[in-house]
Amino acid sequence: MVVVVEQNATEKDIEGIIRILNDFGFDVHRSTGVNQTVLGAIGVKPDFDTRQVEVLPGVAHAYRITEPYKLASRSFRQEKSVFKFKNCEIGGNSIVVMAGPCSVENEKQIFTVAESVAKAGAKFLRGGAFKPRSSPYAFQGLGEDGLKLMRRAADEFGLLVISEAMDSSQIEVVEKYSDIIQIGARNMQNYNFLRELGKSSKPVMLKRGLSATFEEWLMSAEYILSGGNQQVMMCERGIRTFETATRNTMDISAIPVIHAKSHLPIIADPSHGIGIRDKVIPMARAAVAAGADGIIVEVHNDPDHAKSDGAQSLYPNQFEEMMKQLRVIAEAIGRKIA
Ligand code: PEP
Ligand code: MN
Repeated sequence: MVVVVEQNATEKDIEGIIRILNDFGFDVHRSTGVNQTVLGAIGVKPDFDTRQVEVLPGVAHAYRITEPYKLASRSFRQEKSVFKFKNCEIGGNSIVVMAGPCSVENEKQIFTVAESVAKAGAKFLRGGAFKPRSSPYAFQGLGEDGLKLMRRAADEFGLLVISEAMDSSQIEVVEKYSDIIQIGARNMQNYNFLRELGKSSKPVMLKRGLSATFEEWLMSAEYILSGGNQQVMMCERGIRTFETATRNTMDISAIPVIHAKSHLPIIADPSHGIGIRDKVIPMARAAVAAGADGIIVEVHNDPDHAKSDGAQSLYPNQFEEMMKQLRVIAEAIGRKIA
């Protein structure tokens, strides 16, 4: 925040302003010219009301100069960021669909799912090889073997790969087989990890933390951007609320709000967003209508026997139906499904 002091303010006024700014918790840098004193207040909290400073005796103006995130903000870059891939782009007019199982389980499963989602129009094959599970006893993923299977399945059916890295030690292997590195909700505030992702040459999809505000989420994107990786996309995957009827609460409002605050593309994950199979398609429709740049959705050839998230995974024929519906909605808002 910049505080411009009135020309006729006394030294006592100025000292008073500085003291109060310090009380608010700001570091104050004073620059005194011939007729004018300007105070730079560092550490302005996003919710700080600058009027609290404007009313102080001796203050001419007080204004915020930055959001706490810079590289992620619309004021830094007015145009939307568009990331180009071999078979599509993300952030442009077309909406990209990423589909596949929660976890890669075996060759037959991943090839079967890859074939059906490719046929229905997906551009990316999703699937976890490293799985963040709430229980240490639950299936943890196939690791590098899973990534190899995914890569082969994706190549076979003309898809690209998106898969999760859970910590810095997994970045290299995920980069090797995957076209986008997914960062899970539980890692959104793992700042050392985010810094390491800043050094990656691969695009990163950053899921929203379970109870993260838009600002916290954008600050996490800022870690990756400031580390040198400009290819960051956001992913709304539902948040924790007081509601217990659904697994999470899909925050559709994140889509237009992130677009207003940031130039980064936003992908919607209706599967984790609501967590109940028969409600995934309505959430996907809503996300496209709200302006999402992509949809990432769980699809399984045999969800009843899935090793993770079967209850929220679509059957292949439901996925096909979802694609048909999304095409209609995309067209209604002047976009198309890639
Ligand atoms: C997933 O995509 O399967 C996953 C674990 O997602 P999240 O990090 O959003 O829970
Ligand atoms: Mn899942």
